[in-house]
Amino acid sequence: MEVHERFRTRRRDIGAVLAHEITHVLLHRLGLCFPGTAENEILTDVTAAYLGAGWLLLDAYREDGVERQRLGYLTPEEFGYVLAKRAELFGEDPSPWFTSHVAYEAWVRGRAEARRERTAPPLAGAGPVERRRYAWERRRGRAGEGAPYAFDGGAPATGVSFSCPVCRRRLRIPAGRTLRARCGVCGTVLECAA
Ligand SMILES: [Zn+2]
Ligand SMILES: [Zn+2]
Repeated sequence: MEVHERFRTRRRDIGAVLAHEITHVLLHRLGLCFPGTAENEILTDVTAAYLGAGWLLLDAYREDGVERQRLGYLTPEEFGYVLAKRAELFGEDPSPWFTSHVAYEAWVRGRAEARRERTAPPLAGAGPVERRRYAWERRRGRAGEGAPYAFDGGAPATGVSFSCPVCRRRLRIPAGRTLRARCGVCGTVLECAA
């Protein structure tokens, strides 16, 4: 593996470059790939983030008058989002690891997006405002524009479908009840107040 000449003077970014390149090697050995180059670069960064080295790529993001740099193929917010998914799974908090201010801010925004997904109705973690809107829409049997769920079965609705917050598989459960749903694809157990 060869690292570009320019990192001779940017040694603190070598870890980030290696995180990406080593993940390429891993995916290649496992025979995991998409047909296109762009998709493979994204897969590589997402995998690096899930395996725990991806925060280095985000931390190499700098915009401070002296330099402007981004490494990897995800936007800084997307890195933050994937890191939040990993943090959730492993119960870790990468907040203190960041040395770059803009990288830290992107992490915070990405984490907020991941949290929004986890707290959207019919998930039980939804906030009171979302809950009230959900209950009203369920009574009329029709979800509002842009809602992350869809109703069926008339008014009030007797069924609701939504995407699994972990694997995005579409799930359908009975509406109007508190229940525990298990995603058939990724096995995640979801507390729902449908
Ligand atoms: Zn690459
Ligand atoms: Zn799932």
